[in-house]
Amino acid sequence: MADSVLKTVVIYTLVLVIALALATVFIFIPAYVHTIEGRVPGGFDSLYLSKYSPYNTIVVEVDYQPGMEPDPKAIAALQEKLELYSQKHVVMHVNQEIEYDEVPILISGNDLFDVTSTLQHAHRDYKTGWLGGNITLYIMYLDTVWHPDNSEYCSNMPAYQYRTSTKVYSAGVTYAADSIILFRDALTEEDTETTILLHELGHIWGLDHSNRSDDVMNSEFNVYNNVPQNHEPDVKRFPTNYSSEDTLRLEQLHESLNILPIF
Ligand SMILES: [Zn+2]
Repeated sequence: MADSVLKTVVIYTLVLVIALALATVFIFIPAYVHTIEGRVPGGFDSLYLSKYSPYNTIVVEVDYQPGMEPDPKAIAALQEKLELYSQKHVVMHVNQEIEYDEVPILISGNDLFDVTSTLQHAHRDYKTGWLGGNITLYIMYLDTVWHPDNSEYCSNMPAYQYRTSTKVYSAGVTYAADSIILFRDALTEEDTETTILLHELGHIWGLDHSNRSDDVMNSEFNVYNNVPQNHEPDVKRFPTNYSSEDTLRLEQLHESLNILPIF
């Protein structure tokens, strides 16, 4: 009698332990990754870049408003950097899906994230897989001006942390772990767009700002503008490369085993 009770207890305990282990691997860890990590720029850095990442394809979806069509050169530069540092298959989808009247002409502070969450809900077609497969990057080109309330890094964001490109108005912003917005001002000068797009991609990969004038992670437009045109032939007015330190970090992320928050 005691033997069969013991046996029953052991069996139930084993079933419980196995169920908990399976739930941890297939539910709790992915839920943590997709919710908590998913809120922060850089949260998915190694999931995008590591060769050990369970995601083998990066799907980039670019939705734009009328008149905000991305420059194919900028899109090609983005794809090239994604392929170079991730060594993964990269699929691009570029569509004019957002209508003119869906976005206010001027957006202040955190209102941006209400507007864009509505836009994402309506237009984002590709989602990152729960356990692997496709990891997505969602980019919006919006015909609007965003004033982030003069906050360099806004620390009181309730839902999503973000990084801005400039202090007074923004040409681009990275928010959450997988989303970028480019604004009208990003497209005003030739070659600005590529620089800003690659700058925001750097934030997606967890890179910080630098003050080097030949570094795409420089955040100040006036610095770009102040680079002497004929001073150094190697220094482009609008940089399109990451610094050697950042390049090293991206290469380390490609080798990184740190693809789960438990490590
Ligand atoms: Zn920035």
